Amino acid sequence: MDELKNQDCPVCHEKTATLIEDERSFKNFKCFLFSITCSSCNYHKSDLEIEPPQEKKQSVNIKNPKELKIQLAKSSEAIIKIPEIRLAIKPDVSSNGYITTAEGILSKYKKELEEERDSAEDQEDRKKAKNQLKKLWKIELGEIPITLTIEDSSGNSALIT
Ligand SMILES: [Zn+2]
Repeated sequence: MDELKNQDCPVCHEKTATLIEDERSFKNFKCFLFSITCSSCNYHKSDLEIEPPQEKKQSVNIKNPKELKIQLAKSSEAIIKIPEIRLAIKPDVSSNGYITTAEGILSKYKKELEEERDSAEDQEDRKKAKNQLKKLWKIELGEIPITLTIEDSSGNSALIT
């Protein structure tokens, strides 16, 4: 792992950004990770690249809590879909790339839903979030099997098997 401190921050231009580069080898590919974090303005961006490029669409069936531990390398351009709960996470300017697990994807979504449930202005939105949370609990218990699909036209995302 390489770490470069006191770099120019692209947002606030203070010399308080830290760049980190890392490399990890998996069975079928190498993953290059990089991130920039600024201690002055809290700017953070991370992404990854995979060599060689991977299949643009990959899916896995998850039927029990143990299978939620499957790891995935997700670039900032990846689209993640779980049709059983109508979830589609699409990339935007603030998207990051990182290595996570199916469980990690769900828990991130869970936090968003909890926020929505507790603070959405529209009662209907709160109710929807509450129902969606119930489905997530069932997935965690293995009561709802899911299909997780990762799509990335750049080839920089993959399920790690
Ligand atoms: Zn900054």
